[in-house]
Amino acid sequence: EDDYAPSLEARKDKLLGGLLQAGFDERSCASRYQSALYRKESQHKPSPYLISRLRSYEALHKRCGPYTESYNKTLEKLKTNHQLEPTDCNYLVWISFSGLGNRILTLASAFLYALLTNRVLLVDPGTDMVDLFCEPFPEVSWFLPSDFPLKNQFNSFDQKSPHCYGRMLKNSTFANSSRLISSSFSFVYLHLVHDYDDQDKLFFCDEDQTSLMEVPWLIMKTDNYFVPSLFLVPSFEQELSNLFPRKETVFHFLGRYLFHPTDPVWGLVTRYYQAYLAKADERIGIQIRVFDTGIGPFQHVLDQIIACALKENLLPDISREKPIINQSQKSKAVLITSLSAGYFERVRDMYWEYPTVTGEVISVHQPSHEEYQQTEKHFHNRKAWAEMYLLSLTDVLVTSSWSTFGYVAQSLGGLKPWVLYKPENRTAPDPPCRRVMSMEPCFHAPPFYDCKAKRGIDTGEVVPHVRHCEDMSWGLKLV
Ligand code: GDP
Repeated sequence: EDDYAPSLEARKDKLLGGLLQAGFDERSCASRYQSALYRKESQHKPSPYLISRLRSYEALHKRCGPYTESYNKTLEKLKTNHQLEPTDCNYLVWISFSGLGNRILTLASAFLYALLTNRVLLVDPGTDMVDLFCEPFPEVSWFLPSDFPLKNQFNSFDQKSPHCYGRMLKNSTFANSSRLISSSFSFVYLHLVHDYDDQDKLFFCDEDQTSLMEVPWLIMKTDNYFVPSLFLVPSFEQELSNLFPRKETVFHFLGRYLFHPTDPVWGLVTRYYQAYLAKADERIGIQIRVFDTGIGPFQHVLDQIIACALKENLLPDISREKPIINQSQKSKAVLITSLSAGYFERVRDMYWEYPTVTGEVISVHQPSHEEYQQTEKHFHNRKAWAEMYLLSLTDVLVTSSWSTFGYVAQSLGGLKPWVLYKPENRTAPDPPCRRVMSMEPCFHAPPFYDCKAKRGIDTGEVVPHVRHCEDMSWGLKLV
């Protein structure tokens, strides 16, 4: 026995290069410090500036979070609906909205916006946020208390709400409407859902950011990863470049910082990983999300997946002539995620019925097939979160176009996936897939507006690090 050999656990960097705080109670959330045991070490290191800003955010959150003196005082402003003197703490409330992948991306976007504007992020628990995610900040909760006065209005907030920022701008007859907003409202609702209009989109302009600065409560509803457009706001530019010298690491770091699976979800992740993936020499994730209507599996989607895997040498071809080929020692485990089981069954059968030309041993696994998207069932979203996480633990990843489920997996994992082009007219696209430029998620509904010139522009052509996405030509992503 060698007392001096550090254990595997000690050698791994459980604080992820300083991203995480030491000192959380390990028994309350096993995944927080265990995740390093399941991941390859990240190729990226968080900047010292990002680390220091996270620590100062944590201090702010502790001072201003739920039921602190500052929180209670700022809450008073909501009741009087007028704010006369500036407040000690300002808040950003994130409304739980849309599918789980979307929620993870919007919550990270909201956190970055809070960081940039010195606001405290509070999370509407919705139906299952508490069940899925551990507390990311020490000591004081990030969840919005259930007695928050506006809570029962969250569902009805939309573009017609009197406090909606876009609507305020539309209704305003004053030339300097924005100053009016900042001085007279205790809360403003930000509608950043994909159906938002030109006025709502002015959120991404410097002038409007100035007018929102003094509003104590901002309430945000969104289903989009809007980070790329924050990089186009001049007043955020310097800070963002200090935080993220490598632009494509934004979600990679914020995701690893914020999203720790709760113990029930971590059990789903670790049991599955150990049983089916740990022993393979290489792990290949294939995330299948079919937006076509009708019941799959579809032959054209299956053809596309196999064409992509073979063409890009992610998986070996099979031999239909030679019944037995000497087995090499190398094994590959394929993790397929999909709402239906059909694709998995066909890929598994292919590697059972025929040998691989390389002699590699291929095993194929799919954790669940939930058949359709369900929103209110606990185990459903636990499984969805576990599967995104498992995909992020693979070595090579194939994802589906347009899917935030895949974006979460790729960025958390630090993986540049091969993305399957979206099939048109029920035919497999040719080429079937391409490698993406960066691991960042795509912003599906960005504004195309030049705030200074007050006219439309192609926001994918303004700076070299904000480009159009591979899977959605009008989307924007960081590269
Ligand atoms: P997106 O619609 O692909 O952008 O991803 P979202 O996560 O926002 O919404 C899709 C929802 O459908 C997920 O949250 C799950 O509830 C469900 N879903 C889609 N694909 C899968 C899958 O492969 N596995 C599981 N378990 N659920 C899935």
